[in-house]
Parts: sequence; structure tokens; C-alpha cells
Amino acid sequence: MEFDTIAAISTPMGEGAIAIVRLSGDDAFKIADRLFRSPSGKLLSNVASHTIHYGHLIDPMTEETVEEVMVSAMRGPKTFTKEDVIEINCHGGLVSVNRVLQLVLNNGARLAEPGEFTKRAFLNGRIDLSQAEAVMDLIRAKTDRAMSVALGQMEGRLSRLIKKLRQEILETLAHVEVNIDYPEYDDVEEMTHTMLLEKSGYVREELQKLLQTSQQGKILREGLSTVIVGRPNVGKSSLLNSLAQENKAIVTDIPGTTRDVIEEYVNVRGVPLRLLDTAGIRETEDIVEKIGVERSRQVLKEADLILLVLNNSDQLTDEDRNIFKAVEGMDAIIIVNKTDLPQAINMEEVMALAGSRRIVATSLLEDRGIDELEGAIADLFFEGSIEAGDMTYVSNSRHIALLGQALHAIEEAISGVENGIPIDIVQIDLTRSWELLGEVIGESVHESLIDQLFSQFCLGK
Ligand code: GDP
Ligand code: ZN
Repeated sequence: MEFDTIAAISTPMGEGAIAIVRLSGDDAFKIADRLFRSPSGKLLSNVASHTIHYGHLIDPMTEETVEEVMVSAMRGPKTFTKEDVIEINCHGGLVSVNRVLQLVLNNGARLAEPGEFTKRAFLNGRIDLSQAEAVMDLIRAKTDRAMSVALGQMEGRLSRLIKKLRQEILETLAHVEVNIDYPEYDDVEEMTHTMLLEKSGYVREELQKLLQTSQQGKILREGLSTVIVGRPNVGKSSLLNSLAQENKAIVTDIPGTTRDVIEEYVNVRGVPLRLLDTAGIRETEDIVEKIGVERSRQVLKEADLILLVLNNSDQLTDEDRNIFKAVEGMDAIIIVNKTDLPQAINMEEVMALAGSRRIVATSLLEDRGIDELEGAIADLFFEGSIEAGDMTYVSNSRHIALLGQALHAIEEAISGVENGIPIDIVQIDLTRSWELLGEVIGESVHESLIDQLFSQFCLGK
């Protein structure tokens, strides 16, 4: 394929002392040679691939030195995009790296769109679709943890698992073929059934496990939906504000679900939170009534985490107790706020209502207790969950949909065998499942199924 040469700042993750401007495309070397001057006068077009060179960038219009740089020269196809790639390493700092990018753009490169390097890697066959999507997620990843999930996927974890499952299905299909070709042998049929149930059962289990991770994957991408509840004036809005101030607010492209619920995205010790203050729903209304309102109920129902705020300087009221009831069985942290004021609340009753859920005392006015609250949030999320690095996650909604369909097809095949449905009907479900899994990793389907069947298994012999 032929593409123009694109360029962008691709500063490595983590440390930013060095910034990189990356070029990819047929003209990458030509453009670099226009700008690069090495002390020995060599041209990048003549150097060995995958080597790095010291020199200066000059502006060819004025012959003035722009920047002191190290340039990596990498010839396709052994690059991320499979194209010729030049990486210009310059001293960090926004000004200098932007100056280098501008220079490159003035001399024949085009500014890359977000994710365009990845798109090329996919179009040039360097990575499969699920890997490409993982990189896209990476670009959008909102926290370190979300990033490590995206990275794991990029390394092909999901792809590897899907390939393995497809292989299982393929082997089953091969046996089904034999069965269809030699229906007169009874033992072949029985073998086929046993094997089919065994292998399909395995695939079903793996798909179920994978789909179970999708909820967590979603949380990592979109944030733990966290609802702040409490009766008026206990400090809900104050809590939202201090969490948002203490933590870098996360920029998001997810549209607000509703105007009357206030939303903030924050990153609390690696846990992405989508904070919802139900107080946004008119506070003058009676809270019991409010909880009864369909919308609030919906917000509560969809919550992953509840922050229930109480007022230390007031006695517990029936409103408080009703709120406890409304969040029964949910993950919650009980916050006893306004500890700077004299205590009037009955802590024994609070503890009884809280049950096994953590209670944190705060004074939002005096900025106390926030640290402990953050710790409690992080504990709650990370304790109950398996380390992101150990698992294959799905978090991409297209993958989730395809995996769900593939699971359904496998289940159909299994129940088909169990109910004595003709094997060539079962074969259709198996094939469908195989195809759907193929779509996850972007492998095209129909004829390749036949090809693979016959290249991998010697059938009918
Ligand atoms: P909401 O109605 O639950 O959202 O409560 P707000 O956050 O609007 O707070 C109600 C009032 O309580 C405001 O005047 C706050 O300044 C005050 N407030 C919030 N937190 C504290 C606290 O820890 N101590 C004291 N003394 N006042 C607080
Ligand atoms: Zn409020």
C-alpha cells in the first residue's frame, strides 16, 4: 500500500526529558535528510537500518541550526508501521519539540491524525484489529491501570486466547467433517460427539470467563460509577469538590448522562471514578421522595460504588436510615462528615447500619479525612479484583458484542449435540462461532475457514 508520510510528537510514556517526533512513510528518509546535518556529513539514506545518529537539524530555508538531535533511522518493514520510520529525539520541552515538528511539516510531512500510526500498522498487516483497537484505547486510556490493560491487550493477549479458541473449534469442525464424510462408521460419530462436547465446553467456559471481565474492563475505561448520597446539607457537594480538587480531573469524551446529576471524573490512586452528585437533583425536595424518583433510583442502581454521607453534628434521622436501606447490598463507604463540630450522631447505630462497610470520618471544611477516604476507595477496588496484569480483559464494546454472539453460537452447538440435532446443523453453529471470533481479531472469514481446514488437517484420507 502507498501512503503519504505522516509525522507527530510521540513522546514516550513516563519520563519526558526527551521528546520524539516520529515520521512514517515513503518519504521519511528524504525529509529527514533535508533537515539533518551530521558532523561527518553522512546522509541518513545511506546508513544501516535501525541505527541512531547524532547531529543538528537545520532550517533549509535559512541554513540556521534549529536543534541538537539524535535521529533513529529505521527501514520498513521491521518497524511498528512496517513503513520507513524516522524518529527525531530532541530535548524535551514543548517549545523545542513543536519547533521540530513544524520544521518536518514544512518540509513534506503531514500531521498524523490521532491513532494514525496504529491504523497504518493495521493496514500494513503489522498488527491485527484487536491489537489496533487496544492501541486506540491506550491513546485514550485515562489512568495508569487502564493503560496496563490496554498494553496487555496490545501485546496480543486477547488475540492469543482468541486464536487458541478458534483452533479448538477448528479441530472440532475437522472431526465433524469426517463424520459427515463417513456416516456409516458408528464409532466415528460417537467420538465426534464426545470430542465436540468436550472442546465446545472448553470454549464456552473460556468465553464466559472472558465476558465476565468485560464489566471490570468497562470500569477501567469509563470509571467506577460512584454516587454520592446523603440528605441535604451533610456535605455531598463539598465532598465532590474536594475529591475533584485533590485529584487531577480526568478529561473525558463521555457525554454527561443527565443535566440534573453533577458529574466529575477523577483518578483516585489509580482508580478512575466517575463521581455523581445526586444533590444536583433539586435539594429542597425531600430526600425520601427523591430516592423514590425513578431517575435517582436508576442512578443508584447503576452505581458501582456509593459514598454515603452523614452529618456528625446531627442525630441520625429517618432520612439517613432510608438512604441506608436504598443502598442495601451495594459497595459503599460511609462518611461521617463535619467532625470539626461537636458530635451528636450515635456512632453505635451508624456502625450497625454500616455492617461490614468502611466508615470514614471527615471534616471537609478543615480538609481532614480525605486521605483515609481515598485509601478506602482504592482498597475496595483493588482488593476484590484480580490484578490487571494477570488477566485477559475485554473492554472494547465491539469485542464484547462479538464474544457474546460467539458464546451463543457455541451454546447452540452444544445443545444441538445433546438433543440429537443432525451434525451438519451443529456444524453451522460451530462455524458461526469460529467466524465471530475471527472478527474480533480482524481475520477475514469464509474461504479461509476452508483453506485452514484443509491445510491443517488431512481429511477424507
Ligand atoms: P450537600 O447539601 O450535602 O451538598 O452539602 P454541601 O456540601 O452543600 O454543604 C452544606 C453546608 O455544610 C455548607 O455550608 C458547607 O460549607 C458545610 N460543610 C460541609 N462540610 C463541612 C464540614 O466538614 N464541617 C463543617 N463545619 N461544615 C461543613
Ligand atoms: Zn449540595
